[in-house]
Amino acid sequence: MKCQRHSRECTGVCTWCGRQLCRLCIGKTDGKKMYCVECSGKIGDLVKEKQLDVIRKENPPKTKYFDFSRV
Ligand SMILES: [Zn+2]
Ligand SMILES: [Zn+2]
Repeated sequence: MKCQRHSRECTGVCTWCGRQLCRLCIGKTDGKKMYCVECSGKIGDLVKEKQLDVIRKENPPKTKYFDFSRV
């Protein structure tokens, strides 16, 4: 299947809107997921928040000033 915009072979599908994406269409990748340029702009903040969440879980803060366990 070819990308309708660039006439290139599609390499994946946007996780958010389901559109077929060629390499030029990919706006952001998040592990194995990928997003088109439009969606990566829209959900950029959401992804960032999600990543922050993961970082918090993997690296519990050692500072005493911020107690995440009470949130
Ligand atoms: Zn999309
Ligand atoms: Zn394309």
